[in-house]
Amino acid sequence: MASEQLEQFEGAATIEKVASLCRRRGFVFPTSDIYGGLGSSFDFGHYGVLLNDNVKAEWRRSMIQERDDVVALDSAIILNPQVWVASGHVDTFSDPLVDCRTCKLRFRADQLELASCGKRPSKHPGEYSECDLTEPRAFNLMFETHVGALRDDASIAYLRPETAQGIFVNFKNVTSSMRVKPPFGIAQIGKSFRNEITPGNFLFRMREFEQMEMEFFVPPADAEEWHRYWIERRHSWHLDLGLRATHLRIRAHETEELSHYSRATSDIEYLYPIGWQELEGVANRGDYDLRQHTEASGTTLEWIGHEERYVPYVIEPAISVVRSTLAFLCDAYDEEVVAERPRTVLRLHPRLAPVKVAVLPLIGKDAAMTEKARPLYEELRKTMSAEYDDAAAIGKRYRRQDEIGTPWAVTIDEQTIADGTVTLRDRDTLAQERIAIDSVRQLLVDRLD
Ligand code: ATP
Repeated sequence: MASEQLEQFEGAATIEKVASLCRRRGFVFPTSDIYGGLGSSFDFGHYGVLLNDNVKAEWRRSMIQERDDVVALDSAIILNPQVWVASGHVDTFSDPLVDCRTCKLRFRADQLELASCGKRPSKHPGEYSECDLTEPRAFNLMFETHVGALRDDASIAYLRPETAQGIFVNFKNVTSSMRVKPPFGIAQIGKSFRNEITPGNFLFRMREFEQMEMEFFVPPADAEEWHRYWIERRHSWHLDLGLRATHLRIRAHETEELSHYSRATSDIEYLYPIGWQELEGVANRGDYDLRQHTEASGTTLEWIGHEERYVPYVIEPAISVVRSTLAFLCDAYDEEVVAERPRTVLRLHPRLAPVKVAVLPLIGKDAAMTEKARPLYEELRKTMSAEYDDAAAIGKRYRRQDEIGTPWAVTIDEQTIADGTVTLRDRDTLAQERIAIDSVRQLLVDRLD
């Protein structure tokens, strides 16, 4: 694959520039920042919420709505703690950590190249002459809490570190209540929590994040074929929503890299400005989870058909909303000079853009223009996310929409009053078309399709 050769992100984005735009334009804020923030945690502002919602909607559309073999689920965040014993998370969901005796900081042993030395930030831990690292030690990533009035060992519970287990423990409920039979999937979007140690890189690694996971149950003999199928499908999803082919690659895990439950895993990696990193994992989990929960709960989790009975294998595509959103933002971020003025633009796929169309009276104080513009805006917002803006010079209003990635702007001017036409400005080409005001809604609906 040509993309294998690419070492460096192609484009204007850096993590810092994307983070700065996100803060300036109300997409993402550091959490509780008036108290100094909290590591690897962020809050989403208006446009961030809309963008994340669109990412989730596209995932749901492709994974559930446009298929007839996948059903939805929304399981609890705090499950019976036995779930996490059976799944192996209590024993093995850990990262190897090293401490530096000199700077007293703690790092992930397998990601030292992403961390900075506490004494000499230009170097990685272990590279500076004064670094004194301990041997790696396992550190469990699950957040503990207590359920009920007593705070003792018996009341310990966990915030889920993945949504998948909520799906496995509902296998029987779903197969007995829905018209499903293997191959079929159960899809879930929801918050997961991990006490991550490697800090930084904006949204890439967070301590609480929404996951989009789908467990696809198949006859064991068909598992490899379905694994290939889902790697391909998920790769296409990223491409269809606009990620550059040269920024995506598929990397199969080496045997020693595989998680305890996995028979085979391929990561779909994205070339973030910080380098190639996992965007999505597609694993063949075999029958590990259903067997573990059968044994631990005493409830048999298997498929019983008319003439067959077996424990299905599971193929799992798993991605978080934020890693996806960050990849879309990095790919879309662009800087250029237009008419001798710099312009920053987010070239987001229209379906992902937080706002689809801005309605702008050319002169904000002109009553005749605003009288035409406001009803158009009110009509458009019934079907799509729209904004009305009559403040500041028109150029400034366009730039603001460019920075939040709005694909179209409709301008109402003097000619609108004379002949009922408006200009439709394209964010990427900057081309302006003259179209009838009555046709705007249908035209945009068609383009969004
Ligand atoms: P990593 O190796 O980066 O820690 P992982 O292999 O532990 O990730 P999985 O357990 O396979 O990740 O989780 C599935 C998906 O969830 C990942 O592909 C990624 O998209 C997302 N994800 C995992 N951890 C985080 C996190 N801390 N913040 C944001 N997204 C995450």
